[in-house]
Amino acid sequence: MAEIEVNPKNKFYSNKALHKMLTDSITGGRLCHAYLLYGQKSIGKKTLAKNFAMAILCKNDEKPCFCCSSCNKILSKNHPDLFFYEGKQGKNAIHIETIRDIRQDAYIRPNESDYKIYIVPNAQDMTISAANAFLKILEEPPPYALFILTADSKQSVPETVLSRCISYEVFPMTVEEVIFALTEMFPDKPSDEISRFAEISNGNLGRAIDFLTDTSYNEMVELSRKAINGIINKCEYDLLACLNKANSSRAGMLEMITELSVIVRNAMIHKLSVTISSDEQIAALGYSLTLQQMKDVLDVLEKSRHGIESNVNMGLLSNNLTALIVKAIN
Ligand SMILES: [Zn+2]
Repeated sequence: MAEIEVNPKNKFYSNKALHKMLTDSITGGRLCHAYLLYGQKSIGKKTLAKNFAMAILCKNDEKPCFCCSSCNKILSKNHPDLFFYEGKQGKNAIHIETIRDIRQDAYIRPNESDYKIYIVPNAQDMTISAANAFLKILEEPPPYALFILTADSKQSVPETVLSRCISYEVFPMTVEEVIFALTEMFPDKPSDEISRFAEISNGNLGRAIDFLTDTSYNEMVELSRKAINGIINKCEYDLLACLNKANSSRAGMLEMITELSVIVRNAMIHKLSVTISSDEQIAALGYSLTLQQMKDVLDVLEKSRHGIESNVNMGLLSNNLTALIVKAIN
């Protein structure tokens, strides 16, 4: 998992109020048997779940201390009283056998702690029979068992399971929080690169980490930057060349359209609030286009996204998209 390699201490960088509430519930003796942490993908729910488990099992006053024997065992994935489901992801990927194993294990007393904790990420991936099996243990859990589920949304978890969990939403981070976290995790990366990815990640740290570490993603970001230069310079040829390069795959084209939309939206936000972006290209875009032109470009991008999703010919799509953007900015 990327988050463990780049965040070896499993630090949680945002949602400070939620984090404090959870750790306070440990010292205040108000722990519940089941929690659901929900929010968009890659936002840090698993990191928070593990951080919370560390705090519950931690032996020091400052929880989690990251240095006691219990914290260290969790960091090295070696704690006998913490189970972390790391199986397949995707719809119906969590089968009843996994939940049966958890149930069986939960009735055996903890090895060395007061609690036995089970983290099940992506609870929305449970099959119906798995969710029903899970419900049984949630209805009558052993006193020492504690379950932490994560999900993309509240609605994606069966109502019966949801009703037995205390649920908390995990929110996106601020740009400043993303910059702080990335700077700590990637001390060798240039600060302008970190700021740029923090800004376009929309507060999603996992996404920002992908930008920084995935070369194919980096290539797409570079291509998007060139396309934006084509818009700034009103050069139809450059714009078309970039879109033609991206259109070899629908997924690549969708990513590029998302990227272009984020950049244009950022330029609009700065123009509306009469501020200048620290990103030179976003500032240049805001300078060269009017608000109406940027809005028209965003509309065109949005329409082409529907086109990609409804299987239009990709060559035709990049030609049309170029023509419509050129029309919008002239
Ligand atoms: Zn500790």
